[in-house]
Amino acid sequence: MKILIVEDEKKVASFIKRGLEDDSYQVTLSYDGVDGLRKATSGDFDLIILDCVLPKKDGLSVLGELRATGNHIPVLVLTAKSETADIVTGLDAGADDYLAKPFAFAELQARVRALIRRGEQDRGAEIRFADLRLDPVNHKVWRGKTEIILTAKEYNLLAYMVRNAGNVLSRANIADNCWEYPFETFTNIIDVYINYLRKKVDGDFPTKLIHTVRGKGYILKEG
Ligand code: CA
Repeated sequence: MKILIVEDEKKVASFIKRGLEDDSYQVTLSYDGVDGLRKATSGDFDLIILDCVLPKKDGLSVLGELRATGNHIPVLVLTAKSETADIVTGLDAGADDYLAKPFAFAELQARVRALIRRGEQDRGAEIRFADLRLDPVNHKVWRGKTEIILTAKEYNLLAYMVRNAGNVLSRANIADNCWEYPFETFTNIIDVYINYLRKKVDGDFPTKLIHTVRGKGYILKEG
């Protein structure tokens, strides 16, 4: 996954870059609006993190010009302050989300994950992990050549786990991302669904992918 950061404050830019690289994203930096737009239109990114106040060309102009070319890459706009007017302008210009500075890195991470996920869904790109393959358009799932029939809820849960493969997911994480109801009521429901998924996804396959992390939650990993 490739991310372009357009931010002239070099400290902020390199702080974000380091953090995202730790999460295994490939990160490219740009320090002004003209260069940023040129890199963005080269088209090879999954997400753009775009600061509002930039030299040479401001962030919202970059965004407007990018969208005018028909480019739909997800864009997360960074604003200096969380003033409603700025946010509305940004969203009108075609931003997918915004984040007011200063922000906690965890918050940025969450936005980045959500936007990349949305981008994948829009493109309908297959999601893969090990020999597991998910078709986000038709909600079909295969392990190797075997198709696995899931309900819509099971599919959502599995897709969430695949997108976060290798990370321990607490029941609260799962509830937040896969259920629209308050978490407390649904703890047991999550365990029940994980068991359904296990039967279908791991069942008779020699390599188990869904694992319990005692006291913490669940993780999708090989073996
Ligand atoms: Ca700036």
